[in-house]
Amino acid sequence: MQTEVQNIFCPDCGVLVKQIVSHNGLQAGGTSIGPSVIPCPGCGSWLGTGTSEWDEKGFFQKWWFLLSRLLWFVVGSVVIAGLLGAMIGWAAAETQVVGPGLRIHCTIAAYIVISLLIAWIMARNTLREIRDSRRRVAEAEATAESESIAEE
Ligand SMILES: [Zn+2]
Repeated sequence: MQTEVQNIFCPDCGVLVKQIVSHNGLQAGGTSIGPSVIPCPGCGSWLGTGTSEWDEKGFFQKWWFLLSRLLWFVVGSVVIAGLLGAMIGWAAAETQVVGPGLRIHCTIAAYIVISLLIAWIMARNTLREIRDSRRRVAEAEATAESESIAEE
């Protein structure tokens, strides 16, 4: 696996703002959910991140996000559950836990169970990401509100 680290520097003061880690061209923990701007730790100027919070996303961006997660699930389940299912089916037949005629049933059962497990984990993570994003937005709004009250 080839790992690349991309450093994003502040255009104003040159301080390292963000690191994007990618494996074989795929961004690690790749998500389009996150603050749309972050303050530079060096000079405090606001910098665009290329991501946006869930509530800031439009209708199609939301669907695209969910669709890309679904696509990842399909790829993940075919590769991971397919491979593990085949291995479990092979091992079950080889160790004679099941007869040779039941090997395909074993493979399919393992494939379904592992796919459901992957679906559950991915759905949970996606929902948590959306919930965290909405909480960040709500907290930022509450802070902005209390600051405007303090100023009065
Ligand atoms: Zn800066």
